[in-house]
Amino acid sequence: MPCPTPSTQRIPDADTVSEERLTIIDAIPVPPSVAPGLGADDLQPEHQFSRRGAQLRVRVHPIEDPDNGGYLLVFGDLGPAPLVRVHSRCLYGDALGSDDCDCGPELALSMDLIQAEGAGVLAYLEQEGRGAGLVLKAIGYRTSERYDLDTFDSYAKLGLDPDARRYEPVAKALLDIGVHRLRLLTNNPDKLQALAEAGIEVEVLPLAVRLSTERGQRYLDAKVRRRGHMIPRDVGPWAPEYTARAEPVAEERPRTRRRWLFGRRR
Ligand SMILES: [Zn+2]
Repeated sequence: MPCPTPSTQRIPDADTVSEERLTIIDAIPVPPSVAPGLGADDLQPEHQFSRRGAQLRVRVHPIEDPDNGGYLLVFGDLGPAPLVRVHSRCLYGDALGSDDCDCGPELALSMDLIQAEGAGVLAYLEQEGRGAGLVLKAIGYRTSERYDLDTFDSYAKLGLDPDARRYEPVAKALLDIGVHRLRLLTNNPDKLQALAEAGIEVEVLPLAVRLSTERGQRYLDAKVRRRGHMIPRDVGPWAPEYTARAEPVAEERPRTRRRWLFGRRR
């Protein structure tokens, strides 16, 4: 379930006790002085995580940023080049299973891969609606319906940045926890670019996600055509002229493990 950002994580009508709890939630690591009888080891944001019958240790790190913050969820013991999914929050896709976008399947596939490997990082960023928020995202969907526009033109018609997301805070957070090399689970060249420009050595593992609805396919098409997303050719047969721009390099790998050239879009 999507979580509120650290800056909005507030308890209504807080009395003295809940103020102490508020401090516990907001400050990591938690000062033992606010939790009598508990030591520093008790107050680490780390625990066992279960999903689809398998268990993994997870440790939560906040990414403090007013516009592009969120959390790093560090699963297992990271190797020298861990799997990393940088995921923008999408209530419809992540929580409601919407067919209109690929967010839910991408998140699920990323977690499948991290769990299969036994380690990895999910960066969950509070960037609903490509940074516009849920209300404007909903208005954007409406604009697409009424004017037959793709998602980016809908945002432009509303005077919005087609994609306001920035990834410098997540890059810094990854560096802060010692991740200097990673295998990035994404089709988005902006994420690759931002992490690479921060000095992180990045290999991209594109996510081959299929959407069965026409609306979903048009959404993927728009991402390829307008933003240079590296959708694998076999996932986008409706737009071969676009997916041809995202040829994998010659190295042969299984579908989700092909290496893609750096900096395609720019
Ligand atoms: Zn979505």
